Amino acid sequence: MKVLVINAGSSSLKYQLLDMTTETVLAKGLAERIGIEGSVVKHEPIGKNKVQFKRPLDTHKDALDIIFKALVDENHGVIKSLDEIDAVGHRTVHGGEAFASSVLISDEVIEKMEENSVLAPLHNPANLIGIRACQEMLPNVPMVAVFDTAFHQTMPPKAFIYPLPYELYEKYGIRKYGFHGTSHRFVTLQAAKLMGKPLSELKLISCHLGNGASIAAVCHGESIDTSMGLTPLAGLAMGTRCGDIDPEILIFLRQRGYTTEEVDNMMNKESGVLGISGVSSDFRDIEQAAGEGNKRAQLALDVFQYRVKTTIGSYAAAMNGVDGIIFTAGLGENSDTARASICDGLQFLGIELDPEKNKVRGEETIISTDDSKTKVMIIPTNEELMIARDTVELVEAAK
Ligand code: AMP
Repeated sequence: MKVLVINAGSSSLKYQLLDMTTETVLAKGLAERIGIEGSVVKHEPIGKNKVQFKRPLDTHKDALDIIFKALVDENHGVIKSLDEIDAVGHRTVHGGEAFASSVLISDEVIEKMEENSVLAPLHNPANLIGIRACQEMLPNVPMVAVFDTAFHQTMPPKAFIYPLPYELYEKYGIRKYGFHGTSHRFVTLQAAKLMGKPLSELKLISCHLGNGASIAAVCHGESIDTSMGLTPLAGLAMGTRCGDIDPEILIFLRQRGYTTEEVDNMMNKESGVLGISGVSSDFRDIEQAAGEGNKRAQLALDVFQYRVKTTIGSYAAAMNGVDGIIFTAGLGENSDTARASICDGLQFLGIELDPEKNKVRGEETIISTDDSKTKVMIIPTNEELMIARDTVELVEAAK
């Protein structure tokens, strides 16, 4: 079965076409600046030359039109006809409480996603535009929605209820939902395989450390807590997002003349390690600046790593122990220094990092010593593959 995975943002659309008989990627790419001047589709057919199409893209449908032509093109294509696409899997952000797992897309599912748009005004409407554009262009192809929040729907109320008036939860659905669920699910499944134990017997802490960052406590295969909240702004310090801060700071700033938009922009786009360091939101730049003696760059790394470490400690407490720590996403997979700093001081949890094994990058492997009671692992995430697997499973089941 060939599955097209779509991740539609407000002005971008990422795609991957996978052959699921072998779980291999046939082509992948990205449409950027949709609806903005300078739009482009970057298409990468595996085993062939990459190609760029610079054309005006007014809508996501315009972008899909170019992508579909590229997929069947004589030179850049990887399939003969669009009929070879058996199913489409859509990355969708907010499933609210309506979706605890992936679903086949129907009119009812779209209606519920529209209702959930209030919870993710930046993401869900963009996801829906992507779904509708695909439905128009591939009307008879089954489609599946894979929600970022779904994996965390197993959290108990004590983890997801905010200590606010309870009516806010009842009236507006204000609670912790958590994100990166598809990534946390994928890497914990892989970790169990790597450890040679059933997932149902393991207590795992999954650290997705990229530009956006979150940690999940996954007990016996179920998420029981996670660091992001109602929105992906909560929890750890991130590239540009502030994570958890005293909520009174917002009132303090509003009283000093900052508008709601300014505060929102500041917390989402000007904070995190960028805000502290003043250097960059990219950890490579910050690590380099810190290495050259930049004190604020070092402070940004310290704050980031401290939050990761204390969150690991609290999730070990939540599960009454931990068998494995997983590092994934850009920083987690690639930065040996970040992993070493985070693990240093966690020896009380039975964690002994092996400095030699830790030197690898982006490779699925155990990096703790052989006698470390708690295993530490690098597991490269693959959300697209997880989405494609869910899509195959649901489409096959519906036959
Ligand atoms: P992601 O959001 O998963 O794509 O991760 C992006 C983040 O990973 C960026 O801040 C990158 O700087 C960081 N990253 C990628 N490679 C490295 C590396 N070799 N060392 C440190 N950080 C890295």
